[in-house]
Amino acid sequence: MGSSPSVDITRWRNTVVPFTAGDGFACNLVHVQGPTPAIKGPVLLSHGAGVRANIFCAPVEKTVVDVLIENGFDVWLENWRASIDFAPNEWTLDQAAVCDHPAAVRTIVEQTGCDSVSAIVHCQGSTSFVMSACAGLLPQVKTIVTNAVSLYTIVPGFSKFKLDVAVPLMRRVYPFLNPQWGEDAPSLRTKLLRGVVDLTHHECHNTICKFASFTYGTGFPVLWRHENLNEATHDWLRHEFAHVPMTFFSQMAMCVRRGNLVSLGTFRQLPEDYTAQPPQTDARFVFLTGDKNVCFLPPSQHRAFAFVDKFHPNYHSLHTFNGYGHLDVFMGQNSARDTFPTILQELNKPN
Ligand SMILES: [Zn+2]
Repeated sequence: MGSSPSVDITRWRNTVVPFTAGDGFACNLVHVQGPTPAIKGPVLLSHGAGVRANIFCAPVEKTVVDVLIENGFDVWLENWRASIDFAPNEWTLDQAAVCDHPAAVRTIVEQTGCDSVSAIVHCQGSTSFVMSACAGLLPQVKTIVTNAVSLYTIVPGFSKFKLDVAVPLMRRVYPFLNPQWGEDAPSLRTKLLRGVVDLTHHECHNTICKFASFTYGTGFPVLWRHENLNEATHDWLRHEFAHVPMTFFSQMAMCVRRGNLVSLGTFRQLPEDYTAQPPQTDARFVFLTGDKNVCFLPPSQHRAFAFVDKFHPNYHSLHTFNGYGHLDVFMGQNSARDTFPTILQELNKPN
């Protein structure tokens, strides 16, 4: 992957705004602007593990970025330390929660002069962002639209087995996994993994797509339903998946064993168990899940909604998209028809 961010949204003007995380890690925000100034507040979008900000810009007729711009929002795509635009680093959710997201939000507040920010957060961009919010580190964030997983981490049985048994074994040999090895395996040990993927995955001819499924769980594929992607997106994603560290998978294994988010105890700002006390935020949560999500099962978000609803009834919301999986909520060829209207409707609600 390149060392500088490249965003494919050529129809919009975009500017890379660097920011420094709390521990000095160099991250950035891609500020995307339409032809006329935004008339609504800033929206931060946070990507998942082993991808980058560009994941929200799939080659579909209308991306989530397009619809946000067309509806007057000010769009900020965050490249936090998990971004594959940066050199491989052994990140944890705790680091992102304490160091990256608060600095990203502060940067948006400084740049825009708005004291209120909305967020659309996906998968590990969601878990880490929600950790940050629930620890009281994101007071400026008023609405959090979270997709796939947040406070509760419920995965299929075989994924649990992989996290429990395979991760500790593999971690000694592979400090990172990289779906790019599906196309270019540079060593014997990476060729070995590619062999395993070739033997076990026959769902399509895209080796990166198959290696991403091997990396992120159990399914054929794991991260989307093929029928929801157009051909251009299925090809484009070959360039959008790369290195993800075992430090992350180890933390996720702990979370999955517990059934909910836990921190590693490395930062005093973070609670050990995120479901042991009320969330330290007045943000409104909007939980999204695809009913066919096999990466994190729909009860992950159902339970998270029930948890926050207990403390502030009839304030938060939960939406289940029928026929959708994990990332196809954003990358789907029909997402503009099926999922984006719900996201817009929630963002347009007054804070
Ligand atoms: Zn595929």
